[in-house]
Amino acid sequence: MSNSFNELVINYHVTEVCNYSCKFCYAKWDRPNEIHAQGKDAELMLEKLAAYFFDENTHQVKATFPYKSVRINFAGGEPLILKERFSQLILKAKELGFNLSLITNGHYLTNEFINHYGSLFSMIGISFDSQSVDGRKNIGRIDRKGGSFDEVDLINTVNRLRKVNPTISIKVNTVVNSLNYQESFVELIAQICPDKWKVFQVLPVLNKQLLVTDKQFSDFVDNHQELSEVMVVEDNDAMTNSYLMINPEGRFYQNSTTQSGYQYGELILDVSVDQALKICEIDWEIFSSRYKKSTVMNVLELISDREYQFKQNQSLSLLSQGELA
Ligand code: SF4
Repeated sequence: MSNSFNELVINYHVTEVCNYSCKFCYAKWDRPNEIHAQGKDAELMLEKLAAYFFDENTHQVKATFPYKSVRINFAGGEPLILKERFSQLILKAKELGFNLSLITNGHYLTNEFINHYGSLFSMIGISFDSQSVDGRKNIGRIDRKGGSFDEVDLINTVNRLRKVNPTISIKVNTVVNSLNYQESFVELIAQICPDKWKVFQVLPVLNKQLLVTDKQFSDFVDNHQELSEVMVVEDNDAMTNSYLMINPEGRFYQNSTTQSGYQYGELILDVSVDQALKICEIDWEIFSSRYKKSTVMNVLELISDREYQFKQNQSLSLLSQGELA
């Protein structure tokens, strides 16, 4: 088995605050003290991560996982809601040598933002669930003023991103739920032509609203077969964790395998990165056999040894983190 994967991805959930309120949103960490709001702490955390992951000599990760680059995938909540503070994090992370990507609901992906920062990202993922105003409203993809990111916004935004950054990868994420499973996205996705259209089956995370049956989900997938070149399907059982996840407070975390919710490590700023990573229970040697490589993004996605066993033994649904916005 080859270990020649390119990129290690760290999903940094910058904030849990969002301008939308999707009924299936899992981005809840009980309102922690978000590190971005504490002076330069978030930037210091990025510095610490860079020192650790870019150090060729003193840590073991690269010895077993010879990644060529590390990508910070900013997710939320909605990262762009932080405006200037988020811009500072983008510049800092880039300056430190990270590749950058962003998962957003698109609402604040303005021309101004794209003109300033669009060229710094290797990938931007935009969540889009319905072309119907009522659909978006009932899902919760609408802000307090009644505004929501529609299909015209999506097309214009993607065009703008590609103009500013011709090599950027565009990902569209759609959560298939009881309000959109009969909707056709064929024309829209064909027009946008994203590098990847990721289709998720809504998960019963915090409540059981908007669920679809497995049959309804597979019918949705069947109805979009002509998009199979770009469509990537993630049903409840197929979902896995991206490898490393950081919560808004600045802790690595993972899904609990014994109960619902998350398990958190120590604050990254308070301890060594090795110590902070302990919650992930990483045995890098063992995990080298537990990765799947995305054929589209050439991205490393791993599941932990414990999670692997857990998935083998139980057909419990797991969350795919860092994908929703
Ligand atoms: S799913 Fe995304 S857009 Fe919807 S409320 Fe959660 S973070 Fe916001």
